[in-house]
Amino acid sequence: MHTTQSPPLWGLYIHIPFCSELCHYCDFAKTARWDDATVAQYFSVLHQHLAEWLTHVAVPRGVRFTSLYFGGGTPGLFVREYETLFTMLAPYLMPDAEITLEANPKNLTPEALAGWQKLGINRVSVGVQTFEEKGLRFLTRDHTPAQLQSTLSLLPKAFSSYNLDLIYSWPGQSLEDWKRDLEAAVAFSPTHLSLYNLTYAPQTPIGRAHERKLIQSPEEESQAEFYEAAQSFLATKGYLQEEVSNWYRPGFAARHNALYWQDVPYIALGAGAWGYIPDGTPWGIRYQYPKGLRAFLSMPSPLFSGSALAQIQPDLVMETQRDGESWLLEYVGAALRSHYGVNLSLILEKPQRAFVPTPWVQQALDTGVLTLSDAQVLTLAPQEWFRETAWCGALLECFPPISSVIPRP
Ligand code: SF4
Repeated sequence: MHTTQSPPLWGLYIHIPFCSELCHYCDFAKTARWDDATVAQYFSVLHQHLAEWLTHVAVPRGVRFTSLYFGGGTPGLFVREYETLFTMLAPYLMPDAEITLEANPKNLTPEALAGWQKLGINRVSVGVQTFEEKGLRFLTRDHTPAQLQSTLSLLPKAFSSYNLDLIYSWPGQSLEDWKRDLEAAVAFSPTHLSLYNLTYAPQTPIGRAHERKLIQSPEEESQAEFYEAAQSFLATKGYLQEEVSNWYRPGFAARHNALYWQDVPYIALGAGAWGYIPDGTPWGIRYQYPKGLRAFLSMPSPLFSGSALAQIQPDLVMETQRDGESWLLEYVGAALRSHYGVNLSLILEKPQRAFVPTPWVQQALDTGVLTLSDAQVLTLAPQEWFRETAWCGALLECFPPISSVIPRP
């Protein structure tokens, strides 16, 4: 009898670290010091690594990609540079794959938009951050409010699916400023919105200034107010919330991000990129490329010393002592703050933990803050996603090893 099995559907992330200027809050792998030769060398290393990932991982497992995401850095600086990657990937991309490219407002020219469309990119994600002059100055963005108006208006004509990124709770931002930002963003009818609470990463200029108390972040209460303002405003505009930082119009949930929240494998390549791939254990491998451009370009080659995935260069593997505990922490942390929720069957299957609610968690179940569906999916009410760290800690106490719960015969 002949049976057809569906291929495993994974994601693919490709990091492009080049930027025109550096923003003072940014903690991604990025550089503003580059020239055409460096870019050519970077893409050539990407081609070589992609070939290896395809040969050693995707082909043996029959993997197809349901999403391809170009993140950065500023992938929007380039168009023709992606041609070879698309040629290499053509046999592996699902026909309806979501293909996203991150861009900055200044990259949105009619020529670039047409070029991305021609390559097969079907979703653009734009780093707006704020429409307020003082906010753009604080965040050291290289665009002006006027440039935002002219460039963003090109998007709806070119793409039917596009995301705008905004940042909230920057010092000096009032709730009124934030509401104006939300109004301004929605005026461009984005199909998706990503709203991030500003963080002060230690290695960034604003992180250091924050550490030295030169700038103050708003109180946690005000940050929560900003979050709640976004929730209620976007609900009135027909947006649904899929995660603590992500909203979408019906039909436009972000497929790539959803992989991260649902324990689906994804290959990642490029400076600083991290991926998650199966290795025969229930928790898989997490790996990360070196963050610095020079370190990435001078990585020893080849990446794999044999056909087995376990032979990936050991320097790339993030946790050598990975186990059920690390998997549980990471899965509950990501799934709990999304509308997909925490799948208890998966927890029973992978680290083999049963769900035994503590009195505190039971109370949350009784009051409806947590809900447990017939399909054994535990979902946290969206207004609580903002406090995910506290909830995650409380929930992790509810998963003792199954052997300690089921009496032995
Ligand atoms: S926020 Fe974007 S544009 Fe700014 S430095 Fe970071 S990656 Fe580059």
